[in-house]
Amino acid sequence: MARINENYLKLAAGYLFPEIGRRVSEFQGSHPDAKLIRLGIGDVVLPLPAAIREAMHGAIDELGTTEGFHGYGPEQGYGFLREAIATHEFGARGVEISPDEIFVSDGSKCDSGNIQEIFAASARVAIPDPVYPVYVDTNVMAGRTGVPDAQGRYAGLVYLPCTESNGFSPEPPSEPVDLVYLCFPNNPTGSTATREQLAGWVEYARGCGAVLLYDAAYEAFIRDPDVPRSIYEIDGARECAIEFRSYSKKAGFTGVRCGFIVVPEQLAGTDEGGAAVPIRSLWNRRHSTKFNGASYPVQVGAAACYTDAGREQIQANVDYYMRNAGIIRDGMEAIGLTVYGGTNAPYVWIRTPSGMGSWEFFDRLLGEAHVVGTPGAGFGACGEGFLRLSAFGHREQVTEAVERIRTNLKG
Ligand SMILES: *Cc1c(COP(=O)(O)O)cnc(C)c1O
Repeated sequence: MARINENYLKLAAGYLFPEIGRRVSEFQGSHPDAKLIRLGIGDVVLPLPAAIREAMHGAIDELGTTEGFHGYGPEQGYGFLREAIATHEFGARGVEISPDEIFVSDGSKCDSGNIQEIFAASARVAIPDPVYPVYVDTNVMAGRTGVPDAQGRYAGLVYLPCTESNGFSPEPPSEPVDLVYLCFPNNPTGSTATREQLAGWVEYARGCGAVLLYDAAYEAFIRDPDVPRSIYEIDGARECAIEFRSYSKKAGFTGVRCGFIVVPEQLAGTDEGGAAVPIRSLWNRRHSTKFNGASYPVQVGAAACYTDAGREQIQANVDYYMRNAGIIRDGMEAIGLTVYGGTNAPYVWIRTPSGMGSWEFFDRLLGEAHVVGTPGAGFGACGEGFLRLSAFGHREQVTEAVERIRTNLKG
């Protein structure tokens, strides 16, 4: 029999969402009449905006003609989309990013999981705690860690604790590392980083030669004009940062699938002999070897996000979710819970009442209020004692969930 990659066996704790799924289906099985409200997995619920659908329909029709047929496209993405991204996502905010620095993909989960492949197996990696589980798990699979301890912390990783005392925005570590994952607005805490904090990260990275892996999947949910939407708004970031963006949350593309990564031309790593090697060319090599391009209709749909109608419709959806976030925040505060996030991010991070454990609070909300949240501990040891509620729900469900939690916790 073939030997397997034993690093996978270190992932003993399992992935968070399957465990939630298991508990939810077990509960639903024994309580078939319970009407669950799911504010657990961060998946959008509003229909795909009309401007995007119309553009995609047009692209499908084009594919049905001899002149309009498209086979394999450029692996990096079509020029029309990369140009629109450079102009609207960056140029419009005074950030210069060229279309050749943009690589279109089928979403950020793959990009943020795959990026580590182009760095050394010995790279030292710093990862916020709690955070989106993909960063840790992909480094475990790649063999950059030992086994997890009782709290699920893997030997070999440098954890960056995100706590109430640092506003869930960690400081750079005292030691040098090679790679730093950052995610702002943050999943799961809903926190953002200030311009000064990001400038501190850029200074740290340039000081020790680290690469910042900046996941900005939720930038569209930022409301505060002083909060940077891109790491490239910070001077010097072009020399030290890669940014991940996704259409999933901002434009309802979780099922359509499209995202992109920015790898600036100046960004370099070093080879064994210490010579500088441009990261962009390595990523280009990897991307074009392992990926054959996002589908044409999807890229046409993504480009429609930048038309006037597309922007308006996307903004309306973002506003809807942020109104939900406000309802959740206000509702939880009104019953005396301590809450974070939900003002520049679609997630509300709730401190569990009376020192309950994350999974205990999860089970209580599931069993008694029939509301599915996400236990904070599933995102890292520092998430213990917290629970995440997502604002991605229909309004009636969100208000009903808040009401049920209120009734339950009062009783
Ligand atoms: C949802 C999410 C993504 C986006 O994933 P896609 O693969 O683009 O759907 C990326 N990063 C974080 C932190 C997320 O929560």
